[in-house]
Amino acid sequence: MSSRKSEDSVATPKKRHMDALAEPPEVNHELFVGLSSLRDTLSSSNHSRDFAFAHAHYLRSRVLALGIIFTLLSPLWIVVDSLVLPAELLRYTLLGRVVLMLGLVGVLVLALFSVERIRRIRFCAGMLLALPAGFYVLVLAMLPDRAVQDLVGYGFIPFLLVASLSVFPFTLLESLCAGLAMLALLGFAQTVDGTWMTGRGVESFWLLSSLLVVSMAANHFQLSLLLRLYRQATHDPLTGLFNRGALEVHLEKIQAWQREIEGGEQQGRAPCSVLMLDLDHFKRINDNHGHSVGDNVLCQFARILSGQTRKHDCVARYGGEEFVVILLGSDEERALEVAERIRYAVEVFEFTDRQQQRIPVTTSIGVTQLRQDEPAQEALKRADDALYRAKETGRNRALVAEAASDALAVD
Ligand code: GH3
Ligand code: MG
Ligand code: MG
Repeated sequence: MSSRKSEDSVATPKKRHMDALAEPPEVNHELFVGLSSLRDTLSSSNHSRDFAFAHAHYLRSRVLALGIIFTLLSPLWIVVDSLVLPAELLRYTLLGRVVLMLGLVGVLVLALFSVERIRRIRFCAGMLLALPAGFYVLVLAMLPDRAVQDLVGYGFIPFLLVASLSVFPFTLLESLCAGLAMLALLGFAQTVDGTWMTGRGVESFWLLSSLLVVSMAANHFQLSLLLRLYRQATHDPLTGLFNRGALEVHLEKIQAWQREIEGGEQQGRAPCSVLMLDLDHFKRINDNHGHSVGDNVLCQFARILSGQTRKHDCVARYGGEEFVVILLGSDEERALEVAERIRYAVEVFEFTDRQQQRIPVTTSIGVTQLRQDEPAQEALKRADDALYRAKETGRNRALVAEAASDALAVD
């Protein structure tokens, strides 16, 4: 017994230590991140075009799910209507429900054929809320005043719609606008049924406002989580640039855009070029100055690339010390000029080590033009081949990829 007790007394401090280790670090951190992303969730003006596509994709799945639920729920209430409403009033609500269902089916079909159509999907989401609200307004307007008292199960429509806001990854401003419209709807319903400014009416207003605040909080956390996951999946954490996967998706989108603009023409109206860049003798920088200085050089190099390109161009970290730049609207000749400008900017930039001593850094670049009708990987391979030649012929230079026929002739 006594030995057991001594075991316990020895084990307790150790156990406490283990518990302390098991504590999650910085519990408040999550809340801070949530609030700091308020700017991103307030409106979509700060969202990149690529995130807007991912967002629209997510929104579309919600529109389809909720559209199906609304379409199935709406006719079920006809049973209740037929029990509580007199026959002459029933046909008003029946007519309204048929129009509502047709509208909902229309929204579903439109959403189904709106893959990657951002504006259309937003419109569908708006219609999904506007249709039941419109139906309620229509029923209230059509029924004679005394019959409104007989309506059962209609008063919850504004509440259902405000609760539905939390299902969509809406921005806070979008939710606020929709919520205010629902409050106006409730106000209209109350003036019709005579509960406006009564105790019951104020209570309903309070309830709907509270529900709106809860829905907006859900929107905020849903959208900030979506943004964070999107960033993690598509961006390189060290430099903040697009990662390889996101670059490949982006290249395919650019080709689709080229096809749309150029139509049947092969090349010309929307030229696009790809630069593949690799830092010269980067391993030496790591070996001589340490990995963290190497990381610093990579970040500064990324900043030079972003600084030397335009807003619509795309800069990505392709691998360790390899980067890719896509130049929109630039043919091979123009792309070579940009590549030369980047090469020079890197050569003269003052990269420094921990002692603020200058580290000479240079880059080799392969240049090629992207064709709308080839697999994106082909263009990357051509740029990589040109980069390889730039390395072989002395580094710190930019070379254009050989045409396939030239390459064959060299072989
Ligand atoms: P070359 O001129 O032929 O390109 O020579 P290099 O030394 O640049 O090429 P090599 O492929 O031999 O070495 C690339 C080095 O890049 C090796 C790897 O340790 C380093 N590296 C890759 N990713 C990172 C990173 O995220 N941070 C740091 N500091 N180094 C990295
Ligand atoms: Mg290298
Ligand atoms: Mg390399």
